[in-house]
Amino acid sequence: MIDDFAKPKQRRQSVPVRVGNVTVGGDAPIVVQSMTNTDTADADATVAQVAALARAGSEIVRITVDRPEAAAQVPRIRERLDRIGIDVPLVGDFHYIGHKLLADYPDCASALEKYRINPGNVGFKAKRDTQFSQIIDIALKHDKPVRIGVNWGSLDQELLTKLMDDNAASENPVSASAVMREAIIQSGLLSAERAEALGMGRDKIILSAKVSQVQDLIAVYADLASRCDYALHLGLTEAGMGTKGIVSSAASMGILLQQGIGDTIRVSLTPEPGGDRTREVQVAQELLQVMGFRAFVPIVAACPGCGRTTSTVFQELAGDIQGHIRDSMPKWREQYPGVENLNVAVMGCIVNGPGESKHADIGISLPGTGETPSAPVFVDGEKVATLRGESIADEFKQMVLDYIERRYGQGSSSSTTDAA
Ligand code: SF4
Repeated sequence: MIDDFAKPKQRRQSVPVRVGNVTVGGDAPIVVQSMTNTDTADADATVAQVAALARAGSEIVRITVDRPEAAAQVPRIRERLDRIGIDVPLVGDFHYIGHKLLADYPDCASALEKYRINPGNVGFKAKRDTQFSQIIDIALKHDKPVRIGVNWGSLDQELLTKLMDDNAASENPVSASAVMREAIIQSGLLSAERAEALGMGRDKIILSAKVSQVQDLIAVYADLASRCDYALHLGLTEAGMGTKGIVSSAASMGILLQQGIGDTIRVSLTPEPGGDRTREVQVAQELLQVMGFRAFVPIVAACPGCGRTTSTVFQELAGDIQGHIRDSMPKWREQYPGVENLNVAVMGCIVNGPGESKHADIGISLPGTGETPSAPVFVDGEKVATLRGESIADEFKQMVLDYIERRYGQGSSSSTTDAA
């Protein structure tokens, strides 16, 4: 008998970091975050996108602060978000001139809840340490945490060259990719040590070490996690478009999360032209939910369909219900506490339909080709109805809504406890 075979490892213990109203690390739930792709100097577009990301479930949103015009808008963006009731913490993404922007725009420094520093481009040669210290000093003054975010695309070249030279002179040289991974890890750890030496507490430091290859990401984070107890921000950089981006992110982060590694995640998808930026939030949530770490929206299980069903009714119904649930979640979260744990099944025929439907909270087994045109509905494992005729889909949708109201509605005995 296989028991507990696939249980996630106990979560790695990290020092919790407070980012505005959200805790990253420690025992806090794994946080979903995202990043805008608007020009931060365009406050209208940025407010709209931050609001959309937050409403989709992003618990932290990062914005680019790349020039004075952007820094000047940050406090206004914060004010406008507050006015429309969006209290999601904003993180500033700084490269090259972060020290100057934060010093010249103190209202920006104050409006942001965290500063992201890239050790690979915080400054070069003699200026690097000074400019890094300036950012840390400003963070200390404003009592803000930082993320020391290494990215292999902008890795500290001096450090990499030194490690490559040391490796070449070593009696047992390792591969160039192993040296590169070590440089990524050391870059993060050395910068974090420097921040601590400047007076920053471990409870103000989050680390990330992003690369774009799945196996490299797993190796880098597994090593990094064993060498420190800083909270870790997990993400595969430049994951790419569409299914490739989703699969690569899910494969790499899924393995690390299963090992107990990762306190906050971002899925770096490249949106299709004109595509929806909130997709990355949806993917991050679904990754955490399907792995059993958190619940965000009810899950609709649907069979893939096969030659036993020629109708598209079940696919349309599954899509319809999933879409309706996702659209309704901002309201339902308040109205139906616990509804995110609901499981719905929409199945295409009698082979697996009744079995899968019985395992769901509410499920329907639609008729396959040649089957009697009737659809049994199961609620909490019991068959409660058989739907027939043209309106099967509408009737089942209504049954799902009634079930939600009954089980999770205010005043229902199970709205605060798990229902039978
Ligand atoms: S439940 Fe039926 S229709 Fe769906 S995949 Fe299985 S056999 Fe095919």
